[in-house]
Amino acid sequence: MLRRLLPVPVMHPVRLPPSIHLLEHDWLSANSVVCLDDPDSASVIDTGHVVRCRQTCDGVRAALQGRRLLRIVNTHLHSDHCGGNSALQQEHGGPAQCAIVVPAGELQAVNDWDESGLSFVQTGQQAQSFRAASSYADGDVLQLAGMAWQVHAAAGHDNHALMLFQPEARLLISGDALWRYGFGVLFPELDGSGEGFAGQRRTLRRMQELRPAAVIPGHGAAFDDVDAALARAHARLDLFEADPRRHAWHALRVLLKFHLLEQESMVPLSQLRQWFVSTSLVRATVRNHGQGVDAEQAFAECLEALLAGGAAVQRGAFVGDPQADAAESA
Ligand SMILES: [Zn+2]
Repeated sequence: MLRRLLPVPVMHPVRLPPSIHLLEHDWLSANSVVCLDDPDSASVIDTGHVVRCRQTCDGVRAALQGRRLLRIVNTHLHSDHCGGNSALQQEHGGPAQCAIVVPAGELQAVNDWDESGLSFVQTGQQAQSFRAASSYADGDVLQLAGMAWQVHAAAGHDNHALMLFQPEARLLISGDALWRYGFGVLFPELDGSGEGFAGQRRTLRRMQELRPAAVIPGHGAAFDDVDAALARAHARLDLFEADPRRHAWHALRVLLKFHLLEQESMVPLSQLRQWFVSTSLVRATVRNHGQGVDAEQAFAECLEALLAGGAAVQRGAFVGDPQADAAESA
């Protein structure tokens, strides 16, 4: 009886404007935000990972309710945010009818399809090439879902990332700059290619100034306990900034887990080790933050942590994501 008197934490879904449909995906594939721009046409923000492009295309088609998809906008060009660009564009009339819009800092690298300029080589991740029609940048205003959205720089997770803020609805589309619990790995900090910690601090401050009432993140459900999420993000950033190796090792575990998710099947341990030690961002991270530990040792430590936490499963000489293990054991 006493249990009934205790307050129960209620998870209430955030109500989004009817012109916005959030397609919430799993962690391999970032969310897609379908924006019904007018009665005839629509845009989508981010398209998930290439191995899940069928799922994204089907979800977008259902959300369009007969509208034409005229535009694909990417918050940033990581493999889990732009992997469905090519398939989705093909399905909606190709480049002549469906334009891809990317952050200004990535336009050249996309249109040259420079895979090392675009992070796919460094992270050892999969992607499918596409070309962008145009770009957008901090200070721009984009019309989406029948509303005007401010574009803001969102450095930290990615040097070129952008976020979108709608001032009347006080709605923020944050990409990987803010999740309900945390934010994406601060990649520029790993290889020294930019200001990870300082960039993230600026981005969080910008969000505080904007005072969003609700956030549509790149991963997970929309949320409206924004002050609490920002406080958690600041605390996490403080922790990482005080101990960059801690952030670096977190990043290595994330990269390893992401690779296992990408494989979708159990992989030989030797192959996984080879992928890890030959991936250039892993090598740079270990070199810059390993304090004498080499990539082989880092691999052993990271795999052990994933196995101990249940984020990976080992069967003899094979390792995989628990879902791959379950599928193969079924
Ligand atoms: Zn990302």
